[in-house]
Amino acid sequence: MRIIMLGAPGAGKGTQAKRIAERLQVPHISTGDIFRANIKNGTELGMRAKSYMDAGSLVPDSLTLELVMDRIAGEDCQNGYVFDGFPRTIPQAEALEKALSELGQKVDFAVDIEVPDEDIIGRMGGRRACLQCGATYHVAYAAPKTEGVCDRCGAGLTLRDDDKPETVKKRLAVYHEQTQPLIDFYRNKGCLAQADGTKDVEDVFCEILKLLGV
Ligand code: ADP
Ligand code: AMP
Repeated sequence: MRIIMLGAPGAGKGTQAKRIAERLQVPHISTGDIFRANIKNGTELGMRAKSYMDAGSLVPDSLTLELVMDRIAGEDCQNGYVFDGFPRTIPQAEALEKALSELGQKVDFAVDIEVPDEDIIGRMGGRRACLQCGATYHVAYAAPKTEGVCDRCGAGLTLRDDDKPETVKKRLAVYHEQTQPLIDFYRNKGCLAQADGTKDVEDVFCEILKLLGV
């Protein structure tokens, strides 16, 4: 099954995408995680993406698409995947559709997690990320066993620079302008599934599984 996750930054796309991918036994592909890993490793892609990410803007489509097309050609993607944070613009969605149609494939579900803007700022301020293994926590809603330490790999947890309130406001504006139109794009394709993201993590997951029919 080929699934994409839609929703504002902080809506819970990563949290749910990891669970769905585990349930379906397909890779979880987060373009944000891939960019952050490249920044950490000092690659050229990372250096090119960093200034956009720090400013709360989107990385240019050309750079993002190159990375994604390369990733989905991987052997492990043959039975599907869960995209988290991609596509984020209409041109990205159109490019994905074209690439898939050339392979006789399509997006099966676009899962949109709905959370009002008022709730997003609190979620992002409390998010703690492990830059070592990609795990995500929340100081109040999904706390690690030991404060500031990743349960999975033991590395230190950080507040992402782009999760600071000023940058979150910019990212929300970018979301409304450039990414939200994808909801109608996928509604028109007949594959949109909308879930209420204000419920707790387990309830959101159950709602999504029902929508996916798995
Ligand atoms: P996204 O990938 O959409 O940016 P995340 O999955 O990283 O969002 O979630 C953002 C923050 O909100 C994280 O700190 C996460 O632990 C927390 N979170 C995710 N889902 C929920 C939920 N249903 N209720 C409360 N907090 C949540
Ligand atoms: P995320 O981890 O999904 O919140 O993404 C963090 C940042 O990475 C975003 O604010 C963008 O700057 C960049 N990014 C991630 N995915 C994309 C994408 N599909 N298109 C453009 N920029 C992206």
